[in-house]
Amino acid sequence: RASATAVDFDGVGVLAGGYRIPLLANVGGAADAVSAASAHAEGVGLFRTEFCFLDRVDAPSIDEQVAAYRGVLAAFPERKVVVRTLDAGSDKPLPFANADSEDNPALGVRGLRIARRRPQLLDDQLSALARAAAEEAAHVEVMAPMVATVDEAAGFAERCRAAGLDRVGIMIETPSAALLAAELFEVVDFVSLGTNDLAQYTMAADRLLSDLGDLNDPWQPAVLRLIGIVGDAGSAAGKPVGVCGEAGGDPELAPVLVGLGVTSLSMASRSLGRVAARLSAVSPAACRRAAAAAIAAPSAAAARAAAAAALAESV
Ligand code: PEP
Ligand code: MG
Repeated sequence: RASATAVDFDGVGVLAGGYRIPLLANVGGAADAVSAASAHAEGVGLFRTEFCFLDRVDAPSIDEQVAAYRGVLAAFPERKVVVRTLDAGSDKPLPFANADSEDNPALGVRGLRIARRRPQLLDDQLSALARAAAEEAAHVEVMAPMVATVDEAAGFAERCRAAGLDRVGIMIETPSAALLAAELFEVVDFVSLGTNDLAQYTMAADRLLSDLGDLNDPWQPAVLRLIGIVGDAGSAAGKPVGVCGEAGGDPELAPVLVGLGVTSLSMASRSLGRVAARLSAVSPAACRRAAAAAIAAPSAAAARAAAAAALAESV
């Protein structure tokens, strides 16, 4: 059996028994995408487009955007590339998109909320993505960050489809979106759990404060239970549930996420080998037992221990 420390990755995440979990990469631009392709990621599960424009004072033109997006798509011909629309604000402010100052930027006009007052910024990005997708052979899927309501998701999906982008999803990174997952699946094709922000907003703990790292932990049972709600809604709808937060690259958490109903994992390229190795040593049934044990635990530490015990028993 593969060891959990192995880093060689042949491109496919397969559980014991043959069940496939696509393992994808998180990228911020063309250089990352090239490394991800050489690390054999099956595709891109999160392209953080705001990383392409962090140093920009003025909004990039559509042509500039097309060039930036094509650089990533070109690294994954015929593969899935999930592109996130600009997640500007809070820890990633963009001068051309965000207001100068807000008292609580993490709770402010960030991510998809920017389209409330700057709809053209979103529409230009969608036009650029549609053009980049037409010019490269990758399978582009688009998703919005910081969604809290079904109306936001429906409005986003409508704009994407009007731009000619027809695989549309949203990130689930607010507790509201997790609790509304069943209704959200009525208006989008897939979701991807942003566990970094989901933990921050569920635990009301700033993700940038290392002093609160114990709260900001995807192993917190409250976070796992929200993930479980989303996994159940995805199974009921027959639609994909990805994870693209840091949790997706934790080899001990990956089996729990799969047991909660997650169908793909996206992570930093360097984590692919360890996650693949861990998954190859566990069966879907063991993942479900680990998930049940973890969500029943009273603390993050107890959840880790309960999952490890359930997996050890099942080997
Ligand atoms: C997340 O919140 O988990 C996520 C993947 O997005 P980001 O880290 O870019 O906010
Ligand atoms: Mg986020």
